[in-house]
Amino acid sequence: MFKRVCIIGCGLIGSSIARGIKKNKLATKVVSSNRSNSTNKKVIRLKIVDEASSDTKKMVRGSDLIIIASPLSSYKNIIFKIKGSLKKGAILTDVGSVKKNVISLIEKNIPKNISWISSHPIAGTEDSGPESGFSQLFKNKWCILTPGKQSNNKDIKLLEKFWKKLGSRVDVMDAKQHDYILSITSHMPHLIAYNIVNTALKIKKKKDRNIVKYSAGGLRDFTRIAASNPVMWRDIFIQNRKNTSKIIDKFIKNLKDLKKAIKNKNEKKLEKIFTKTKKIRKEIIEAGQDISRPDFGRK
Ligand code: NAD
Repeated sequence: MFKRVCIIGCGLIGSSIARGIKKNKLATKVVSSNRSNSTNKKVIRLKIVDEASSDTKKMVRGSDLIIIASPLSSYKNIIFKIKGSLKKGAILTDVGSVKKNVISLIEKNIPKNISWISSHPIAGTEDSGPESGFSQLFKNKWCILTPGKQSNNKDIKLLEKFWKKLGSRVDVMDAKQHDYILSITSHMPHLIAYNIVNTALKIKKKKDRNIVKYSAGGLRDFTRIAASNPVMWRDIFIQNRKNTSKIIDKFIKNLKDLKKAIKNKNEKKLEKIFTKTKKIRKEIIEAGQDISRPDFGRK
């Protein structure tokens, strides 16, 4: 499918893509650029890629597909570094979790003969680094493509095919819609998990109430999400601050309604809300986004 694919940042997502490329024979050669020499050595030793170096320009040169898989805050530096080394006609994509700002940042800074098509695989775990990646990560998970002004139609089709070969289901939407939807389905749940765990942590510090011992009552499930990569999530909230702030306001309003219903012993209202929310779980399982076994839906 491609002669040379270059992955910038071979962490959880980057290394899973590299493993998927090798497993499905989607490229003749897979190379990677990482900041540290130890990561470059590791990705070679683990046979995740064929070549790796911290010289990003060198790795990018001659590649027909370049995938940025590093934190959003690193994009600016990376683009300034690689813009003069991109092969004419190459496809440039990323895997970032927020789209609007990075699409225009890259559009403004790359040559016109590059097809820049942003991607977002809605797949991940709370782990980081090349050791944690696996080729099946994208299986049956959605990958959203958000083309911009510099996306060639033929290349959109090719990139769509690439993600499908990795096991993804592919949707195409505009960046604004993407950032809004993801603020509800991904960014808000992470923020809530961070806040619940942080609140429990503060209570634990004040008076140890066996919080870890009895965490299976619900807290445990939130700790998985709240164990996600701190730098990545810092970047996501800052990049998507407008949408996230609006959703936080809505959340606070609903939380206040719940508090009122609890205080007023409004049984009818509580039961009505909880019955409505139970239905969505069934829909998620039916849509293949999780399984009903209590193992966090991970296996
Ligand atoms: P990770 O920490 O596992 O990997 C990040 C990689 O980027 C590492 O190899 C790291 O060395 C490299 N890196 C870090 N800072 C860098 C910099 N300044 N310059 C160059 N390289 C740098 O993280 P990940 O989970 O693979 O996330 C990578 C990207 O994927 C993020 O942009 C994130 O928004 C997106 N994403 C993550 C998930 C998820 O659930 N983890 C899901 C979808 C998309």
